[in-house]
Amino acid sequence: MTADPYRLPRTVTPRHYELAIAPDLTTCRFEVTTVLTVDVHEPVSQVVLNAVEIDVHSAVIRDSSGAEQSGSVSLDEELERMTVTFPITLATGEAILTIAATGTINDQLRGFYRSTYTNGDGEERVIATTQFESTDARRAFPCWDEPEFKATFAISLLVPEGLTGISNGAVIEERATEGGMWVTFDTTMVMSTYLVAFIVGPLVTTDPVDVDGVPLRVACVPGREGLAGFALEVGAHALRFLAEYFDIPYPAGKLDLIALPDFAFGAMENLGCVTFRETALLVDRDRSSRLELERVADVIAHEIAHMWFGDLVTMKWWNGIWLNEAFATFMEVTCADAFRPEWERWVSFSTERGVAMVTDGLATTRPVEYEVVSPEDAEGMFDVLTYQKGGAVLRMLETYLGAERFRAGIRLYLRRHRYGNTETTDLWDAIEEATGEPVRSIMDSWIFQGGHPIVSVDGGDGTITVSQRRFRYLADEHDTDSRWQIPLLVRSLDDPPGAHRRALLTDASSSIAVATAPVVVNAGGWGVFRTGYSPTLFTQLIADLSRLDAIERYNLVSDTWAAVLAGQAPISEFFDLVALLTDERDPSVWDAALDGVSLMYREVPPEQRPAFSSWVRDLLGPVFASVGWEQVPGESERLTKLRGSVLGALGTWGEDTPIQERARALHADVVAGRAPVAPDLLPALVTIVAWTGGEAEYELFWDRIRTASTPQEEVRYLFRLATFPDEGLLVRTLEATEGEIRTQNGAFVIAGALANRVAGRSAWAWLSEHWDDVMKRIPDNSHGRLLEGIVRLTDAESVRDVAAFLETHPLPSARMQVAQLLERQRVNASFAERERATLATRFAN
Ligand SMILES: [Zn+2]
Repeated sequence: MTADPYRLPRTVTPRHYELAIAPDLTTCRFEVTTVLTVDVHEPVSQVVLNAVEIDVHSAVIRDSSGAEQSGSVSLDEELERMTVTFPITLATGEAILTIAATGTINDQLRGFYRSTYTNGDGEERVIATTQFESTDARRAFPCWDEPEFKATFAISLLVPEGLTGISNGAVIEERATEGGMWVTFDTTMVMSTYLVAFIVGPLVTTDPVDVDGVPLRVACVPGREGLAGFALEVGAHALRFLAEYFDIPYPAGKLDLIALPDFAFGAMENLGCVTFRETALLVDRDRSSRLELERVADVIAHEIAHMWFGDLVTMKWWNGIWLNEAFATFMEVTCADAFRPEWERWVSFSTERGVAMVTDGLATTRPVEYEVVSPEDAEGMFDVLTYQKGGAVLRMLETYLGAERFRAGIRLYLRRHRYGNTETTDLWDAIEEATGEPVRSIMDSWIFQGGHPIVSVDGGDGTITVSQRRFRYLADEHDTDSRWQIPLLVRSLDDPPGAHRRALLTDASSSIAVATAPVVVNAGGWGVFRTGYSPTLFTQLIADLSRLDAIERYNLVSDTWAAVLAGQAPISEFFDLVALLTDERDPSVWDAALDGVSLMYREVPPEQRPAFSSWVRDLLGPVFASVGWEQVPGESERLTKLRGSVLGALGTWGEDTPIQERARALHADVVAGRAPVAPDLLPALVTIVAWTGGEAEYELFWDRIRTASTPQEEVRYLFRLATFPDEGLLVRTLEATEGEIRTQNGAFVIAGALANRVAGRSAWAWLSEHWDDVMKRIPDNSHGRLLEGIVRLTDAESVRDVAAFLETHPLPSARMQVAQLLERQRVNASFAERERATLATRFAN
């Protein structure tokens, strides 16, 4: 036996699985027969593999001697293992192990689970589907459920009459049987168990689109197939773009993109059989905002990128999950950027990176990669530090090395390790080999320590001095020795566009020769660090913001706000900087500014709110006046997006009455089907109606949710139920998370309720009272998410109560996220405490 209880012994290992699965959608039971081709490496009499919550009825082996014997099975619930003990020692060599088992199609959104929806006739229909990452394949069939045990899979499904069956491979055979059809799918390439998928249900599929020989389809519940066009377009683009980027053909025979009514994650990269929540796949391009379309394009590209990076080349163990996800995130933006360059997807990714840097500026942040012993240890990895920070660090490396050289390294890595398993360092080694740069030592400094630096810049014409220390919102004098290898791209504003010099800051500080000030040390904006310019350099830099590109301006605003929030700069610096944004038309730069506006709105004393709102109107009114209500033919996509954000801000924090009235009138038009409204205005209109709404609007929202014709429309209303400024309505919303609201959406709604501007405390009281029920109902992986709203509960009593409660009610699956949210709550609370007097004076009526 192996010493590590989480790793299976390697005395017997799998080579091929033949799975025959017979689900019964009425009783929600299934039978599964697994015929395994295994290699017996040593003469043993026991075979140990993973299984949990399934009843194993028999296990029979025929070893290389030809002898066949039955084993006795024992299950270890805690380790999720089964041990088969045979009377006679097995001969080494190839053996065939046949295991028969039964199980339940559960309602836990993992393993083999059921998703339900109500059809047009008001009947509830069931879809049986799978979600196996990270370690839930063992809930459906006995297996070697570790990513390194790759094998091929030949799957057969018993599909009842009138239903559709889908799995990783294309259908190769259909055999009629009583009440249905045995459908056999093509054998997969060697892959890990977490990528296996099979689905049976009343699904419809679009006609296959031929993408250079790969049949591409979308599957969904009947009636929604009209929303598949955009997904097919994105999918075809991604397949071609990625095959070319990686210089390796798509590794499976076909690709199905499947929308499911109940899904715990955004999507799952099962080889050739990618599953999605409906909002991430089905969309009406004429009735959705740019942001909603971008999300669909992102998620599809992300999952298809995994077909190579994750499925073809896979991490050895769960510590590598971060690289899998970070790279797919990097690739999704690269691919979406090529799909619609006018979206400027890399510019808008700066906002997502900004969200990660907020968590990463905490004492309770974590290294991107850390040691993972049990698979549960890796559950904390599915967060912004993996996806957004990880993706941003890869973007930083790409920008520093140059896109071509970076890609050469990626191609080398995939070619070298295809069908295999890797450690993170294998990627750095390949890029290092392709470029001759010290990639491994640079990346180790970003991956194995938490946090990120602030680079202070001093000096001027001729030479600048740069120095690094860790950036932290809450000061800690003990942390002085963190060091990063920081790739700097330095440019003088007098340099021609695109010109910069590279420098690697490895010490505490260093000097860099520059031609003339002002200078930018994070040229192009892709360094994952904050920058603190000396007052002289800062003044020079902001003298003419048009000389900076959009991400550089984003960083200037975001870094200034971060310094204010950390108490490292006076709040006046933020006010002075945003006052210079009158000509700013990039929505991401405004996102950074509105981050500050939204927190201040909450912390300004109620008597001063009118003056604060008036300041918001002065700040944003001229911007909105210049973009106007109407979309101008041929205007840039970014301007269209900006219109929505500025409108939303004016109608809420700005309390702009004329805007609120017009927004409500336009919304009424939409509801009555009177006049078309530009889809990019819709999210803002719904936000404003909720902000100013009462009981009547609340009822209307429910009506819209129940009759929504697209998944986006449904969540647009659903997620804003929690923002109505009324305690009674808020409690009704919370209660609906125990009833009508699908568990996959419950966490978002509860998080929104905790952040409610008038009744957040009541939401907390409700949650603490219903704690056990809520945690049982909401999937484990969303426990951290549902608490996100606590960062807005900044009064001293709430800070104390929430911390005390969570101390006695720990959430094992969200331990790190809980600590981070509590610290963010303290960061906001100390900002409020520190700036209360300044804000009161500034906004005195
Ligand atoms: Zn992913």
